[in-house]
Amino acid sequence: METFVLSNRQALCKITTSDGYSGWGEAVAENAARPVAAMVERLAEYLVGEDPLPITRLWQILVRGGFYRGGPIMGSAVAGLDQALWDIKGRVLGAPVHELLGGPTRDSARVYAHTGRSGDAGDPVLARQRVAEGYTLLKFAPDLGPVKFLDTPAWTARFVDAVATMRDAVGDEIDLAIDFHGRLGIAQSRRVLPLLEPFHLAFVEEPLRPEHQGMIGELVHASSIPIACGERLYHRTEFRTVLEAGVAIVQPDVSHANGITESFRIAAQAETYDAQLAPHCPLGPVTLAASLQLAFAVPNFHSQEQVIDIHDPSAPALGIIGNPEVLRPVGGYVARLTGPGLGVEVDEDEVRSRVDDGALAPGSPVWAHQDGSYAEW
Ligand SMILES: [Mg+2]
Repeated sequence: METFVLSNRQALCKITTSDGYSGWGEAVAENAARPVAAMVERLAEYLVGEDPLPITRLWQILVRGGFYRGGPIMGSAVAGLDQALWDIKGRVLGAPVHELLGGPTRDSARVYAHTGRSGDAGDPVLARQRVAEGYTLLKFAPDLGPVKFLDTPAWTARFVDAVATMRDAVGDEIDLAIDFHGRLGIAQSRRVLPLLEPFHLAFVEEPLRPEHQGMIGELVHASSIPIACGERLYHRTEFRTVLEAGVAIVQPDVSHANGITESFRIAAQAETYDAQLAPHCPLGPVTLAASLQLAFAVPNFHSQEQVIDIHDPSAPALGIIGNPEVLRPVGGYVARLTGPGLGVEVDEDEVRSRVDDGALAPGSPVWAHQDGSYAEW
């Protein structure tokens, strides 16, 4: 097993077996790439000498074998190794991962695009460009910046205006979603969400910080807007809380929530609450491929996030795989991946050439309110 840290947002692991198979996983938590890589190396000690095929048995050891468990560092390390084990299993058996999970359940998977980085205004010009490229679901974070505990009527009016501008820009045939990044609290959300009802949003994401997820039921009942969350939850037991509260969409990150193995179960769990799966993925093409394998395996798939520019073959993130064309959407959908394992071929030479041994730039900024106190990004 070998780890490769490329940045604070991208790191990979590779498992090679004694009979010549190899599998890749994307093992990273944004802002903690090296701690996750260290945990991957620790956990890989459990795998040395083992048969890689009984993944669920190995997964139990990876998750529970160290006595202490849970959280993003462990969850991301297990996720990377779990993806690599599924990649190996698919290659040994000559099948894509979704076939091994009982699929396919569909022929193509809907992906969505961002129309403004978090903190920027949602950009109506970019939104129209994305629609022209074929996307039917767009996500944005309009003009948020640091949000006060309860902001002014002027802030609320600007925000509602920005959402109206985006709806006007794309029309009613396109789905729109908003990511709040945990910036609103209960009080502000209860005030704002009912005002957004006329725009018929596909969902609003993470209105609350993850430590407040236990109260998310209050927001489910505050408006008719579907609530989505889960990029900072890592296990079924954490998803049970928000599903019982009535969220419509769960968003485990297949590189944080203990891998394909656990995310598949989270999808099945969500199905019993009439909720759908929309995996979080601001990461690279290996995580995207692992996420798409789930899309083709579960019945209750909603949509797939992605941030690599899949319309630009020279996009930097895609340079680490040799077959980027398999991830390219047509009309906003990616065709079923048919290659073995995760379905992407990692270019190991390219990965090695991108390894960064120096100081890593932060994976996300730290924000402050006007008085200097901490503000959610
Ligand atoms: Mg998000």
